[in-house]
Amino acid sequence: MTPSPQSLPLTRKVSRRLLLALAGAALLLVCMAGFGFFTLERAFAHSAHITQDTTRRIEITLKLQKLLQQAALPVHHYHIDGDTGQRMHFRMLAGDVNKTFEEALAPHDGSQPQEFVPIAASWQRLQGEITAILALPDPNAMGLRRIHERIHHLDEEVRALSDQVGTLHDADRARTQQQLADASRWNRTLTAAVTGAFLVTVLSLMFGGASVVHSQAQLRELSIRDGLTGLFNRREFQAQLQLQLDRARRQGVPCSVLLLDVDYFKTVNDSYGHDVGDRVLQELADLVTREVRKTDLVARFGGEELVVLLPQTDKPAALALGHRVRQAVAAHQGFVAPDGQTFLITVSVGVASFPADAPREDALIRAADLAMYEAKRAGRNQVAHQSV
Ligand code: GH3
Ligand code: MG
Ligand code: MG
Repeated sequence: MTPSPQSLPLTRKVSRRLLLALAGAALLLVCMAGFGFFTLERAFAHSAHITQDTTRRIEITLKLQKLLQQAALPVHHYHIDGDTGQRMHFRMLAGDVNKTFEEALAPHDGSQPQEFVPIAASWQRLQGEITAILALPDPNAMGLRRIHERIHHLDEEVRALSDQVGTLHDADRARTQQQLADASRWNRTLTAAVTGAFLVTVLSLMFGGASVVHSQAQLRELSIRDGLTGLFNRREFQAQLQLQLDRARRQGVPCSVLLLDVDYFKTVNDSYGHDVGDRVLQELADLVTREVRKTDLVARFGGEELVVLLPQTDKPAALALGHRVRQAVAAHQGFVAPDGQTFLITVSVGVASFPADAPREDALIRAADLAMYEAKRAGRNQVAHQSV
């Protein structure tokens, strides 16, 4: 099917809209994928980093807590049974504690963890005191009461140190929980973004689809209409004639056509110009459409010729309608010249009916055409009928 000149810009419009909708959807998907990838990448990197960092800190604090508690024991045992082997035992434990503090204080992520600094200083002091007590040749040399006091004090200090380390541990746990909350916020943000992008994509595709459907409907409408008068075009008339004659044959009912040709239309163009001629054709189209039934189909057959398809109409009824239309045109006051004056026009009408005048579509049109020329020959502004 060759598209009419009017339909060409529309075809381009449809293609452009479709392309725009698809490009929009594609762009959105790319953005969505990019955003999703970026957000996930960030969330993963962030989460991996904080997990690693927190795990390391928790390990260190737990280890310190355990070692500090163990480090308090040798001085007790030394006091109770004077076992000098406890000096070596303490040195080993103290070495482990020192190593763990070194680990805790080692620069991490380009900065030194500050929270262990005061605890490490406390430990250094305590270590000195314990070493001093263990170095006494006789654990009771200090005097029993003083030793008890010192040991009690040391115990308290070790517990305080443990508590401090425990506090760090708690802080780390709180931090981990905060980080988990952050990660779940990231997750919610991402889910919302992806859902939003998905919805927008679906909506834009729906919009694109709807506009394509709408444009297709417009295209179809344009492809069956005449650009000047808005009547059906000749191709659509012929398609409908075929359908109606098939039905008429099946149901054994009549079907008729009227062929109208404007009399001396060339004179209208010559006298008032082509634009007025065009307006006459538009006015005539409206007039004829008003005169016929809703179920009748009015089409522009070509130039200044209109055709009316009358389903389920026999020859007498078609002739009657032909006369009515002819009279209505002849009496119409709505044709206006450039100077504002109205002028009259007339039409010659050819009537042909199925099955009375012709058995097939082409023959029916030929019969109507011959009848119309008969009306011309008879003096114009006439209605005629003819069989083939
Ligand atoms: P007749 O009574 O024998 O039909 O005479 P006529 O002048 O109507 O017939 P003719 O075939 O000589 O001229 C028809 C004219 O219709 C010629 C053509 O320029 C004009 N015409 C056809 N289509 C259009 C149109 O779309 N607009 C305008 N303004 N004129 C048109
Ligand atoms: Mg003509
Ligand atoms: Mg004519």
